[in-house]
Amino acid sequence: MYDFIIIGGGILGMSTAMQLIEAYPDRRMLVLEKEGGPAHHQTGHNSGVIHAGVYYAPGSLKARFCLAGNRATKAFCDTHDVAYETCGKLLVATNDVEMTRMQSIWERTGANGLEREWLSAEALREREPDITGVGGIFVPSSGIVDYAEVTARMADVFRHAGGEIRYDAEVTALEERRDEVVVTSSQGTFTTRHLVSCSGLMADRTVRMLGLTPAFTICPFRGEYYLLPPQHNTIVNHLIYPIPDPGMPFLGVHLTRMIDGTVTVGPNAVLAFKREGYRKRDISLRDLLAMGTNPGIRRVLRSHWRAGLHEMKNSLFKGGYLEEVRKYCPSLTADDLTPYPAGVRAQAVSRDGELIDDFLFVNTARTVNVCNAPSPAATSAIPIGAHIVEKVRAQVDA
Ligand SMILES: Cc1cc2nc3c(=O)[nH]c(=O)nc-3n(C[C@H](O)[C@H](O)[C@H](O)COP(=O)(O)OP(=O)(O)OC[C@H]3O[C@@H](n4cnc5c(N)ncnc54)[C@H](O)[C@@H]3O)c2cc1C
Repeated sequence: MYDFIIIGGGILGMSTAMQLIEAYPDRRMLVLEKEGGPAHHQTGHNSGVIHAGVYYAPGSLKARFCLAGNRATKAFCDTHDVAYETCGKLLVATNDVEMTRMQSIWERTGANGLEREWLSAEALREREPDITGVGGIFVPSSGIVDYAEVTARMADVFRHAGGEIRYDAEVTALEERRDEVVVTSSQGTFTTRHLVSCSGLMADRTVRMLGLTPAFTICPFRGEYYLLPPQHNTIVNHLIYPIPDPGMPFLGVHLTRMIDGTVTVGPNAVLAFKREGYRKRDISLRDLLAMGTNPGIRRVLRSHWRAGLHEMKNSLFKGGYLEEVRKYCPSLTADDLTPYPAGVRAQAVSRDGELIDDFLFVNTARTVNVCNAPSPAATSAIPIGAHIVEKVRAQVDA
């Protein structure tokens, strides 16, 4: 019998495991991950940005956890010798409409207590000679890191403290009883007093295994990137972001300096036909059927079809994608966009077709389940893990 089992070896599972064993050093704990190692899905396929907390509604979990996570991630990297860089982020307005939107971002960043600087077109040019815009906001605390490396380090901390990790162990069934939870996996059946699931793109399926009918479903959105050739590794000094449309805040490709010294462009957001499918041609009939028959996802498709088609077109034709980035970085050409692996976001959608914005948890008497943890959840992983530990503690003490 385990005291705690954690499903998922992404950054949320490992952060939770690491903090749970710190809180309960003498208890038996097990992480079950279906892949051959940590961070094979969202955690290992993202932009690597340590977000500052620019966009999130003041008071939301995202705003709280991102701000705290920015500091906590850097502190973790300092302690565990993981490379990161606080390179700062520039939001760039390219026309009058974006200047107006930038004003609301300025107010929001103020409400979130962020240090930031308003830049004129001239100040913007001084900071970034290759970037064109009519104004910008500079946020100094944004940074870059390799989240797969952070996660591997968290796994080491957990293991050194006595925790057990099983890879290639897919959880296939769950049964919550009065005193325990029975966990069936491809490596056998385990019992545990408490269960935490951080199963990312499979979050709704895990909740269903518990016999619950979740009020949300996971809609997978592929985020495609391009890599700039090495001669452009110094094209920007900061992370460069467009000013988002408030109705579609997650759209808009950015120029991202990566911790390995390269620069990527992206990601876009294209409806994926397979939850863990990273190539355009990846299709899962099971996932397609689940999407096609889900009323929430059908409503999303109906209300966002125009943006969806636009993203799909830019996914298929490099020219459209290039135009997006040339709005603020006009010197780039089609030859500068070279292939780079995509990621797939797990976005929870409510039954009435709302893209759930904030982090979402569903708890039962003996389980805590992470149900919506899109960006900035990698940045926020340490505060999210601490939050989960508090929820588990309440269940242990009940
Ligand atoms: C394209 C893209 C760009 C992003 N950029 C950023 C960024 O710059 N900064 C940021 O903060 N965030 C970013 N994010 C978001 C961030 O990557 C995720 O929020 C975060 O990685 C979520 O971590 P997770 O542990 O919940 O999920 P995951 O990393 O997906 O881990 C879930 C794990 O659960 C395992 N699992 C699922 N089902 C089972 C089962 N039945 N049995 C056993 N194991 C199971 C999976 O194999 C997987 O390893 C981005 C995401 C994407 C996709």
